[in-house]
Amino acid sequence: MTANLLEFDLEGLAVFCEGLGEKRFRATQLFRWIHQRGASDFDQMTDLAKSLREKLKTSAHIAALPVISQHASADGTIKWLFDVGDGNAVEAVFIPEDDRGTLCVSSQAGCAVGCRFCSTGHQGFSRNLSTAEILAQLWFAEHFLRKHLNTDGRVISNVVMMGMGEPLQNYSALVPALKAMLDDHGYGLSRRRVTVSTSGVVPMIDRLAQDCPVALAVSLHAPFDDLRDNLVPLNRKYPLDELLQACTRYLAAAPRDFITFEYCMLDGVNDQPEHAHQLIDLVRKHGHDGLRCKFNLIPFNPFPASGLLRSPLARVQSFAKILSDAGLVTTVRKTRGDDIDAACGQLAGDVKDRTRVQDRIALQRTIPLVPVAADSL
Ligand code: SAH
Ligand code: SF4
Repeated sequence: MTANLLEFDLEGLAVFCEGLGEKRFRATQLFRWIHQRGASDFDQMTDLAKSLREKLKTSAHIAALPVISQHASADGTIKWLFDVGDGNAVEAVFIPEDDRGTLCVSSQAGCAVGCRFCSTGHQGFSRNLSTAEILAQLWFAEHFLRKHLNTDGRVISNVVMMGMGEPLQNYSALVPALKAMLDDHGYGLSRRRVTVSTSGVVPMIDRLAQDCPVALAVSLHAPFDDLRDNLVPLNRKYPLDELLQACTRYLAAAPRDFITFEYCMLDGVNDQPEHAHQLIDLVRKHGHDGLRCKFNLIPFNPFPASGLLRSPLARVQSFAKILSDAGLVTTVRKTRGDDIDAACGQLAGDVKDRTRVQDRIALQRTIPLVPVAADSL
């Protein structure tokens, strides 16, 4: 087995090149070919010495993940389902907006946290993705979209680790992937435009602050421990007080001066006015002016096994108003791509359910894969 070069951040690639008896700066050239130009064939890399290209051919490869399906939503959202072997699949979702292009990336096949309202959580945990499997989602999407949109410029300006899985439970693979996203020789994304979303793995929040501080989103979903224990089982290990203290510590290193709190609005469960007031108290308790944060209310995206319902819009809006009136910046997330099950928490890596896939194809516009299709690489 040769090494998949998508497995490395620039430092890792430099070590790999040194192992081949090459100077470290060659790694920079190679890294740029891979991530900035989307090259997968060493013969394309004409400014590398032929001898190096020959060495690379025998010791390395650059491989994306096979694409099982691709769906485009009426709103421009595109969802890819990637095969990661052994019957597992993960999803990535591209969300175009006027001023940015966001890719939502998966970190695990399944998830061990098991949140009640999350379809990935219901599916259980299969395995961690490797750095190459995390980065391959961005590598493929960026270069596919450039071809598809016929542009040389960067298409993806933001990455959110909000796909399948709990990124902070796959820390060692996550960090090199984040570093490649940030690297000027890689994707050159600013730290503010790369967001790790976590259900609250407290020790790893502290490590992320040390190793690779990027924007942080914390999935809160409840203002007190009893309710959160029930919705996000990880809360039994890292209760709210500990979690919010970790958020306050994180702010010292964070590229943004606030933490985003995500809050999934569940009908009759966590969406009452008293919950909003309890949230305000909770945030104020942590810090003189309160913990600097923004709230992002996510209307629940239902799926059959959850037994839960989405809060009515009027209730979401009055909840948002209580928070805003208390001085907390609050937004309600627009649901994107829900016609292709690409909305938050609907990502289940559903490969086996062919009938459903067929139904969706019949209903939707599918766009053809251009020649860069991963399985041809
Ligand atoms: N594991 C991480 C990141 C992936 S989930 C986390 O939990 O933060 C990304 C976001 O989608 C989280 O805020 C999560 O709470 C939310 N989410 C999960 N299931 C959802 C659903 N069915 N409807 C709406 N949001 C959901
Ligand atoms: Fe895992 Fe996040 Fe889903 Fe919870 S919400 S089960 S942590 S992916």
